[in-house]
Amino acid sequence: MSGHLYIVTAPSGAGKTTLVRLLLQNDPAIGLSVSHTTRAPRTGEENGQAYHFTDVADFLARVDRGEFLEWAEVHGNYYGTSRTWIEQQLAAGRDVLLEIDWQGAQQVRKVFGDAIGVFILPPSMEELARRLAGRGTDSEDVIARRLAAARDEMRHVGEFDYVIINNDLQTALSDLLAVVRATRLKLPVQQERHASLFASLL
Ligand code: 5GP
Repeated sequence: MSGHLYIVTAPSGAGKTTLVRLLLQNDPAIGLSVSHTTRAPRTGEENGQAYHFTDVADFLARVDRGEFLEWAEVHGNYYGTSRTWIEQQLAAGRDVLLEIDWQGAQQVRKVFGDAIGVFILPPSMEELARRLAGRGTDSEDVIARRLAAARDEMRHVGEFDYVIINNDLQTALSDLLAVVRATRLKLPVQQERHASLFASLL
């Protein structure tokens, strides 16, 4: 059976990156897809870990070669998800997680109809604004733009299967782990995993 594909989407400042990092620490069986982006690295971001950092010419050449499963322009930069690695992981039965925006999520759903979409919301607009200002790595201009973009992003929450409100980090993490756990308890998954049990009981 192929692995599950999780799409995790959130407005900037909802705490998605931290939550995903904790999820992967708790469940190393899930592989995180590393996207390509034309945005400049933030302090502490290493090439090949948070992202594969590249320039516009290289990015567009990859688009032309059909390397991306999906790509989108977000906050004035290009972001794209590499196709090959994901297809290989899923075919080998391994779970993959994509941290992408709503535009990417829509494109991925067209290819992988059974992808599991998880949307992370902040507990309030005020808290979101506070978290965006508190990050301290972006200019005020960028923060204001992201706050406006956050509302646009959140309008797409209805396209997702699960919603997690990130008020308390530990609660949000257990919610995310619950989504993964429930997915693995689905009938076809259990039937395949416990084939001999099913055969002996039924
Ligand atoms: P950041 O620059 O803050 O890391 O990410 C900005 C936005 O781009 C986030 O909403 C993030 O989910 C989204 N993003 C990151 N990688 C990809 C990608 O490969 N494809 C798409 N469509 N969005 C992405």
